[in-house]
Amino acid sequence: MKIGSGTLEELPAVAGSLMPKRRGRPMALLTDRVVKRRAGSDLLALVEELLGGPARVRVIVVEGGEGGRVHADAPTIERVTAEANGSAGLVTVGSGTLADIGKAASDALSGLPHVVVQTATSVNGFTDDQSVLLVKGVKRTTHTRWPDALVADAEVLLGAPLALNLAGVGDLAAMFTAPADWELAHALGMADSFSATVVDMVRGHGADVLAAAGSLARGDPAAATTLAEVLALSGISMGVAGTTAPASGMEHTVSHLIEMSMNRRGREAAYHGATVGVTSIIAARLWSKVRWKRGSETRSRHSTLRARWARSAGGSTPRSCSAGR
Ligand SMILES: [Zn+2]
Repeated sequence: MKIGSGTLEELPAVAGSLMPKRRGRPMALLTDRVVKRRAGSDLLALVEELLGGPARVRVIVVEGGEGGRVHADAPTIERVTAEANGSAGLVTVGSGTLADIGKAASDALSGLPHVVVQTATSVNGFTDDQSVLLVKGVKRTTHTRWPDALVADAEVLLGAPLALNLAGVGDLAAMFTAPADWELAHALGMADSFSATVVDMVRGHGADVLAAAGSLARGDPAAATTLAEVLALSGISMGVAGTTAPASGMEHTVSHLIEMSMNRRGREAAYHGATVGVTSIIAARLWSKVRWKRGSETRSRHSTLRARWARSAGGSTPRSCSAGR
């Protein structure tokens, strides 16, 4: 993973190490119609140049639906797979959905080397081995393939719309409640993979993410780098856990339902991370109520004990058994 200022310059070396024997085969470059810039320059032209020039690159453009947004559905993945077939490797230049399509195509081509050039801090799905695919109108998390490398250049990330970059903060907001959902599922025998170590990989960076969010609007490369790093860790945490549960709980389920409902009506939903950010607040409120209820049950158990002790001690109440402890 190459994350930080100027890391795009490392793309030729990264791609070269993964695809040492090109034997004249082109490199497939997967992208969409969204204009992408790095410090004012056209990013795609820059990437093409870094990969050896237009003659050595096969550009695959995925067309978006209404509103220009790309969907990771079966026809799209089949087309990308067919067009990338025979190339030396795949370089995906885009945000989360494109990375999902790239991972699925790389998997379908028996592990075609795949480099993701991340263009926004929008989601945490760049660095795991799963893709959220649209199957008959329903979003399904599907096992695909880890990307072989990630290049997240801070200046490229800052070229994305601010709302898209802030969506990544919303996606990461799930870290505060999703692990509780996961642990609850584990306690109820509905999940056997809960790992506090995996949760800690990301949860320890919660304060950094909240601090970086405010600096994104000022175009701070350090803030973009921090956010990209924690998003990458979050993706890896899902991959190593073999489930999206470390970073995705009730708030993601509701968010996906909103997105599917909007798609069905032919309308674009807000960015994934934006809906997750809002539904995370609801999840936090819900968990706070559960904790309060547990606390009140404890308090009522304590007052019953106090009354019993008071009766057995002839009216005196033990000082150590105060309510709320
Ligand atoms: Zn998400």
